Amino acid sequence: MLTAPIGLLGGTFDPIHIGHLRPAIEAQATLGLAEVRLIPNHVPPHRASPFCTSEQRLAMVRLAAAENPGFVVDERELKRDQPSYTIDTLISLRTELPDTPLCFLMGMDSLLSLPSWHRWQELLDYAHLVVSMRPGWQPDYPAEVADLLARHQSQDIGALHRQRHGHIWLSDNLPIELSATRLRALLAAGQDPRYLLPASVARYIAQHRLYQAEP
Ligand code: ATP
Repeated sequence: MLTAPIGLLGGTFDPIHIGHLRPAIEAQATLGLAEVRLIPNHVPPHRASPFCTSEQRLAMVRLAAAENPGFVVDERELKRDQPSYTIDTLISLRTELPDTPLCFLMGMDSLLSLPSWHRWQELLDYAHLVVSMRPGWQPDYPAEVADLLARHQSQDIGALHRQRHGHIWLSDNLPIELSATRLRALLAAGQDPRYLLPASVARYIAQHRLYQAEP
C-alpha cells in the first residue's frame, strides 16, 4: 500500500520567491501532495553565483517553509561538500521512502533542458515529474523531450497516487513571470520586493543587507 505522494522542489533559492512557491502550492492542492520538500542546492562557494551563502539561502528557505503548511526543508544537498545530481538525490529519497510516490517539481525551463541532466533518462525510474508553466519558456520541446512526453505524459491524478514514479504531469498553473535573477536586480536597484516573496524573507534580506549591489 502506497502513502500519499510528496512533492520535491530543488533550487538555488537565491532568494526563494513566489515563482517557486505558487506553483508548488498549486501542485500541493491539485495533486493532493502530503508534503512539499524544498531542497536547496549546494553551490561551491567560489562560484560567482549564488550571491548569498548557503546558510543565508537555507535561512530564507526555512522562513518560507514556516509560512506554508505542509512545506518542509530537506538539507541533504547542502550537507554534501559538492553539488549533487538530481538523480542521486532521488535515489537517496527513494531508499528512505520506498512506498511514497515522489513528484519532482520543476519549471518548464528545466524540462526543456532535461536532456543535459546527468542520467536524465533514469529520473522517471525514481519519481514523477510535475512541470509548471513559466512565462518566456514555450513548450517547444526538443525531440528527446517530445519523445519522453509521448511515452510518459499523464493528466490522471490517480496515476500519480497509484504508481511511485514514471509519469509526467504538465501543470495548468498561474504563470508567474519572476526569476531570482530579476528579483536580485530589483533589490540591487533599491526597489521594494513586497509581494514577490514571503514578507519574512523580505525582512531577512533587509536585515542582512543582502543583494544590495549587483556583483
Ligand atoms: P535564477 O534566476 O537565479 O536562475 P530561478 O528563479 O530560475 O533562479 P532556481 O532556484 O534556479 O530559480 O529554480 C528552481 C526551480 O524553480 C526550477 O525548477 C525552476 O524551473 C523553477 N522556477 C523558478 N522560477 C519559476 C517561475 N517563475 N515559474 C515556474 N517555475 C519556476
